[in-house]
Amino acid sequence: MNLVAGKVALITGASRGIGRAIAHRFAQEGANVAFTYLSSVEKGEALAAELAAYGITAKGYRSDASDFKAAEDLATQVLADFGSLDILINNAGITRDGLLMRMSEEQWDAVITVNLKSVFNLTKAVIKPMMKAKSGSIINLTSVVGIRGNAGQANYAASKAGIIGFTKSVALELGSRNIRSNAIAPGFIETEMTGELDEKAVEGWKQSIPLRRGGQPDEVADACLFLASDLSRYITGQVLQVDGGMLT
Ligand code: NAP
Repeated sequence: MNLVAGKVALITGASRGIGRAIAHRFAQEGANVAFTYLSSVEKGEALAAELAAYGITAKGYRSDASDFKAAEDLATQVLADFGSLDILINNAGITRDGLLMRMSEEQWDAVITVNLKSVFNLTKAVIKPMMKAKSGSIINLTSVVGIRGNAGQANYAASKAGIIGFTKSVALELGSRNIRSNAIAPGFIETEMTGELDEKAVEGWKQSIPLRRGGQPDEVADACLFLASDLSRYITGQVLQVDGGMLT
């Protein structure tokens, strides 16, 4: 079953980790994939060829998701290259951790701008063509940390909680246009982002997760595929936790 065959998906931050797994999963299911990267240029450039091997159209764009004008230009370019835009996955994200006592203004601004403003930028840029097409699915990567908070991540938690409010508001505003807006809240997923964490602390967390292990990027990608496809056609404004039961 090709769940998203022929659809055009735009994925931000696909050079590594979860975004990369989403790009592969969507290409495997027949979607044409437009994706972005920023600092991982080689990986970004290599990905287009990897995806094209599934027999779909794929193109990478070096584009900063936190830059409003760049997001507008990106959407215009993707429409020109692909002809339509059916699915937007706001995945690009960073961490700049530290206890609030020591958190700098730069750490705060960087995380809010890359994680939260980017979602505004890209969503703004794609809703006009989606409204015209009377169809669309927007999926935003939030986090269990945005639901629960986390010591040492006040900036990250605020950005991810903001994404949830944004996702639900967009669902309310655009439901009548048949545009759905949902969020995915991963728990602990094994990527470079979590690779920096202390090994002992990670082992402790794993033991506290009901499924007793960290998640894999492709497990988030599968949830993404569900929310992008018609399997979820009556679902909007929701936050789907992909966390092995961590937050129940
Ligand atoms: P990752 O391995 O660090 O990858 C982050 C991706 O975002 C990279 O492809 C990076 O591209 C891209 N990116 C960063 N800043 C960007 C910008 N300004 N413009 C465009 N792309 C940018 O992270 P991940 O673990 O896959 O996380 C992906 C998403 O899931 C993030 O939103 C994260 O907050 C969320 N999440 C992750 C976990 C987890 O446990 N891993 C848990 C909950 C939520 P370049 O390298 O090319 O710059």
